[in-house]
Amino acid sequence: MTLYPKMILDALATVRYPGTGKNLVEAGMVEDNIRIEGMKVSFSLIFEKPTDPFMKSIIKAAETAILTYVDKNVDIVGNITVKTLQEARPEPGKLLPQVKNIIGISSGKGGVGKSTVSANLAVALAAMGYKVGLLDADIFGPSVPKMFQVEDACPYAEKIEGRDLILPVEKYGVKLLSIGFFVDPDQATLWRGGMASNALKQLIADAAWGDLDYFLIDLPPGTSDIHLTIVQNLALTGAIVVSTPQQVALADARKGINMFTNEKVNVPILGLVENMAWFTPAELPGNRYYLFGKEGARQLAEEMEVPLLGQIPIVQSICEGGDNGTPVALNSDTVTGQAFAELAAKVVEQVDIRNREQAPTKIVEIK
Ligand code: ADP
Repeated sequence: MTLYPKMILDALATVRYPGTGKNLVEAGMVEDNIRIEGMKVSFSLIFEKPTDPFMKSIIKAAETAILTYVDKNVDIVGNITVKTLQEARPEPGKLLPQVKNIIGISSGKGGVGKSTVSANLAVALAAMGYKVGLLDADIFGPSVPKMFQVEDACPYAEKIEGRDLILPVEKYGVKLLSIGFFVDPDQATLWRGGMASNALKQLIADAAWGDLDYFLIDLPPGTSDIHLTIVQNLALTGAIVVSTPQQVALADARKGINMFTNEKVNVPILGLVENMAWFTPAELPGNRYYLFGKEGARQLAEEMEVPLLGQIPIVQSICEGGDNGTPVALNSDTVTGQAFAELAAKVVEQVDIRNREQAPTKIVEIK
């Protein structure tokens, strides 16, 4: 019998962690280091705290699941090691050491304009002279290739300093990679969480991103394994949450904020972006119609004590720019271009504040 990591993962997916009710794989508790030598299997389970009350019973249950569902002859007993979340997270700067700031862009639900904001923010930051990378990790709707008109790009690999690295595609001064370059969108939902996460890890660790000031990650909507992969593998500077002012979107945005600020994940929120804040028809430029409600995101930002980074109106050119691969942020003379330039400036400001907060205090010797 030949053992594969997937067999082990399938068995572990039958074990539920009582603390959250999720299975071990779903809960991101299985470290991506399953080693198989013949019938000997070993890996680590990640627990939040070294004092987790369920630790012993979970290890026992994991061993039993493997012996039951894989094969009773698997040499597993005593081979599961334990790590706590702190140990499992990489040292800041270990992955992507040449990247100064890593920002996750998320939304509670789909269709609120998260990818539109990601693409335009990337272009606006590049226009300010920053070195910018954009990773489209939205497995369910990778739209960055279309928004940058690079759908047909086939990123190839090159040997750099002895390693085969994927070369990001460059457009409008932004280095881009998308899970969409590698996954047929029609197949995306069939991807098991683990497969998508592994592909994503490659796009981060095995790509030639080089020196970057800002590395933006367009995350899938909601909460998923992809989010866990990102927060466990990268030291995020912060997260941006995009929402429309509509109540249902705001309720999901609140969940999104809580996911990042949860003490387990502990990623600071750089702020909230209100997209589709109002509609102004071209023939009545002075009028604002609040189709999805007024100032909803501002209220949520106040309630959650996070900055409101910007309000982007509904404008036909934003939609068209997305469809024809020319983000409106390319043209800072327009009102929409200006809105994204202001958003970018706010993001830079918030990142600076975070970095200053985290910088070690200098001890000045007074003579
Ligand atoms: P998400 O990434 O949240 O699923 P998208 O960025 O793909 O959402 O946006 C969904 C649709 O709405 C796209 O067709 C996009 O062009 C359009 N859109 C997004 N923001 C705006 C806006 N401010 N004005 C007009 N259309 C927009």
